[in-house]
Order: sequence, then structure tokens, then C-alpha cells
Amino acid sequence: MDLTFNERESAFREELRGWLAANPPAPEPTEGGEDAHYAWRRDWQRRLYDAGWAAPSWPAEYGGRGATLTESAIYFEEIGRARVPLAANVLGLLLGGPTLMVWGTDEQKERYLPPILSAEEIWCQGFSEPDAGSDLAALKTRAEKRAGEWVVTGQKVWTSGAQYSKWCMLVARTDSEAPKHKGLTYFLMDMEQEGVQVRPLRQITGEAEFNELFIEEARIPQENVVGGEGNGWKVALTTLMNERAGLGFALQVRLRQLLDDLIAAAAERGLLKNPLYGDALAELHVRCESIRLLAWKGLTDVERYGQPGPEGSLVKWLWSDTNQRLTQLAADIVGPQALTAGTSWSYELLRARGNTIEGGTTEVLKNIVAERVLGLPRMKVA
Ligand SMILES: Cc1cc2nc3c(=O)[nH]c(=O)nc-3n(C[C@H](O)[C@H](O)[C@H](O)COP(=O)(O)OP(=O)(O)OC[C@H]3O[C@@H](n4cnc5c(N)ncnc54)[C@H](O)[C@@H]3O)c2cc1C
Repeated sequence: MDLTFNERESAFREELRGWLAANPPAPEPTEGGEDAHYAWRRDWQRRLYDAGWAAPSWPAEYGGRGATLTESAIYFEEIGRARVPLAANVLGLLLGGPTLMVWGTDEQKERYLPPILSAEEIWCQGFSEPDAGSDLAALKTRAEKRAGEWVVTGQKVWTSGAQYSKWCMLVARTDSEAPKHKGLTYFLMDMEQEGVQVRPLRQITGEAEFNELFIEEARIPQENVVGGEGNGWKVALTTLMNERAGLGFALQVRLRQLLDDLIAAAAERGLLKNPLYGDALAELHVRCESIRLLAWKGLTDVERYGQPGPEGSLVKWLWSDTNQRLTQLAADIVGPQALTAGTSWSYELLRARGNTIEGGTTEVLKNIVAERVLGLPRMKVA
């Protein structure tokens, strides 16, 4: 990856920076709880969409700008720099859309991609189950074909944003006789039906970002199968690789901001000259830079192979570990304010606990890096 930007890339950055400066998001709501906050993010995505900035890397025919990989990295940098909210339909934009672009039929792309971009239809990811998280292929939710449509029964858990979603990327077992990775199918399930119940799960931060899904004879038409019957494992891997690579890039930008905030907080308290804090902040700075460069390197892999590679797992692992160290250091620097409910530092500290679990646990990511990046022998399970 060549990190010197050409004229076109610099012009792209200037245009976006100018647009963001002239079109700031509405002020963050102080009342109305999570629903008002979500509506605010949805409104922001709508504004991005109207100006053609919701997902510049998407092809122009689906409402993107056909931006190059470097331009989309610049996009994440500028969005981060402007400190605007995360678009509401983040799973649709970063996971669902790119999965459909690889596996979807032309009809599916035409039908589903535009409302993902405009935030008209929100997407969630129905992969994890009570007994199938890291070992996703152990999932038990089953789908049976009856009279030309699929009937789904089972339970999903930790489904982020399900309460706002119209569509769920659902992986279900369609063949119980086949080996466990082979009997799965990837569906788009309409969340607005009687057979789907969404129950919020409250997190340590106080918010209910994710949910349980109870699915009882939900209906899915045949045309909502993505990538073919029995091919769900491969399609799900595309979603997961995009999750680690796409989110990884966006999150490392956010990590840098948080570190800058922490350095400012340390400076305010006269702690920058304290060698203990100085050392810890310098180490975080080096880590942030390494993660940034690894994220850029990840883009080279997409350029070369057309899809994110297993190296995305490395960025996700290092990001989550560094974010936890950073927020822990913040608690030392900021003091009681970081332990007081309702403050931004306490939110960051508590929310960071889930980072090493969501999107693949650190232990599992280490296995992937060991086996598929470093080529070490596969772990033998007793
Ligand atoms: C904030 C948040 C949001 C989430 N959002 C979603 C969502 O929108 N959709 C969705 O489907 N899921 C979501 N998840 C679920 C997430 O993907 C799972 O929690 C994760 O995959 C781990 O699965 P598990 O919780 O079942 O733990 P388990 O897989 O049971 O793991 C338990 C422990 O065993 C370790 N372990 C398991 N297998 C191995 C192995 N082979 N080698 C070494 N150690 C191992 C794990 O690292 C972990 O420490 C979310 C989770 C969080 C925290």
C-alpha cells in the first residue's frame, strides 16, 4: 500500500472534509433515551445518503461513488476526524451490503442495497445462539421447506440493533444429516412478522444494544436465500471477514480520537510529565500507529485478493486489547469521573469490556492468526 495520496485522493479528502464542515449533524439529543439517540443516528445517515456520502465505496449504481480502497480509507479517517455519529445502519453498510455484493442475485442487490444506504431498512446479524458463538457451525436454529417457503424455528442471542431492524442476516440449519458446516443456509429474514420476538438484553453500560430473538415458525420466501441452499457457511464467512476488516478500519480511527482525548485530559491535570503516565500514553500511541498501519495493509489484501483476508483478525484483536488498556488508563488519569455513571469515560470503560468478545473473541482470533497468517500447526482439541 502506497501511503502517498495522489491528486484524485487528495481532492476526495478535501471535498468530504468541506462537506462535513458545512453539514454538521444535528445536536445529540439529551432526552428520549436510546430510541431518540438511534433516531438521531438514522437522521445523520439519511443526510449522508442525500449527499452521496453514506458508503462511497459502493458502486454508483447502488448509490455509492465507486470509491477506491484508498478513498474509502480516507473516508473513515475524515468521518472519524469530524467526530460525527456512527451511521445507524452500520451492520447493513459494512456487513450486509458487501455480503450481498459477493453472493446476492441481481434482484437481491437491486431490492436490498438502496434502502440499506438510505437507512430506510435497518439490518441486524442473527448468527450467535445460546450454544453457538465462537463455534458458529454448531447452531441449531432450523429452517424447513414447506409449500415453497422456509419455516424457521429457533433462538438467537446478542443480536445488536434487532429492535430497530427490518432485515436479519440469519444463518439456519437446513440439513441436519449433512456435516455441521455443510447443512447451513444464509437467509434474509423479515423481522416484522409474528413468528419473530425481540427481547432486549441490558448491558453493563445500562443500554440495551443487543437482544434475544425467539423465532417460532417465522416465514422466509425462497428468493430470500443468499448464496444458495447449503452454502450458508461460506456466505457467513464473507460477512465475518467484512466485520473484522471493515469495522477494524473504522474503529482504529475512533481509538486514535479517544487517545487524543486522554492525552488532553492528562495535560489538563499536569500529568504528561509524570513518567508513569507519559510511558503508558507513549505505548498506546505506538500501538495506535501499528494498528493504523495494519489496517492500511489490510486494504492491500482486499486489493490483491478481492476480499478481506485473515489479517483483519489481527487488527480486531489488537484494537480491542488496546481499547481496554486505554480506557483503564483513563480511569487512572481522570479519576472518580471515569467511575461515575453517565459520564463519557465511564461509558467507554464499561463498553470496552465487550470488545474482546464481539466480532470474534480474542482467543479465537489468535487461533486464526496462528493458523492462517503465521501458518502454525492447527490446535489439537482434546
Ligand atoms: C457487544 C456485543 C455485540 C454482539 N452483537 C452480535 C450480533 O449482532 N449478532 C450476533 O450474531 N452475535 C453478536 N454478538 C455475539 C458474539 O459474536 C459472541 O459473543 C462471540 O462470538 C462469542 O461467542 P459466545 O459468547 O457464545 O462465547 P463462546 O464461544 O462460548 O466462548 C466462551 C469462551 O471460550 C473461548 N473459546 C471458544 N472457542 C475457543 C477456541 N476454539 N479456542 C480457544 N478459546 C475458545 C472464547 O474465547 C471465550 O473466552 C455480540 C457480542 C457482544 C459482546
